[in-house]
Amino acid sequence: MNLIGTFLNLLFPSRCPSCDGPSASSLSHHPFCSACWEGIERYTAPACLLCGVPTSSFHTTRCASCMKTPPPFSKTLFYGIYDGTLKEAIHLLKFRGLKRLARPLGLLLATLPLPPAHAIVPVPLHKKRLREREFNQTALLGRWLSKERAVPLLPDALRKTRETPHQTGRGREERLKNVLNAFDVPGTSAGQVEGRDLLLLDDVITTGTTARECSRALAKAGARSVTVVALARSLPRQHL
Ligand SMILES: [Zn+2]
Ligand SMILES: [Zn+2]
Repeated sequence: MNLIGTFLNLLFPSRCPSCDGPSASSLSHHPFCSACWEGIERYTAPACLLCGVPTSSFHTTRCASCMKTPPPFSKTLFYGIYDGTLKEAIHLLKFRGLKRLARPLGLLLATLPLPPAHAIVPVPLHKKRLREREFNQTALLGRWLSKERAVPLLPDALRKTRETPHQTGRGREERLKNVLNAFDVPGTSAGQVEGRDLLLLDDVITTGTTARECSRALAKAGARSVTVVALARSLPRQHL
């Protein structure tokens, strides 16, 4: 193991958080071992073309929910299912502050077949949450995606106007109520949004309500199109 690897092992657990085997000595995805990192699978099974929810057949291009209420975005792209190593890595980045993981995760995002766009807009945190966490994990991912795909990042295009309680473990109705009208485009950013094709970036899509509310705010500010891009999507309850 090289010096940097030895140093990393002093700072971080020496076991892979996914399989509990020896950690990688490679900087790129430490502390995950190479087998676990390379095992992160791209989702290729059928999904709704609009919201990305897994569907039972490639013949179903739109899920029942999107048929009933078309979403304010044109498409959703995500890398994998929120599970295993991908889930663990997002968790370590977001809640344990392992910011180094933003790069390998951002590189996964960069492999998605993104449509041409003027800019990337990360889902913002409320300023109070940002103070607690000290960084917005989605903006960090956006920085790498922006660099890799040469699309500008607009970290301040959206603003979260209301603090909402943690979403984890809440039901769909409650989540919806929590994020309803919680985002806007500040006047100073309006010029960067109007008439533009945007990539709205989030780390994980759960029910899709955050993506809908952010897209609604961007559309209201005159965005021409919004494509939702995320690292992971959780499976709807009936698939678990
Ligand atoms: Zn492992
Ligand atoms: Zn759908």
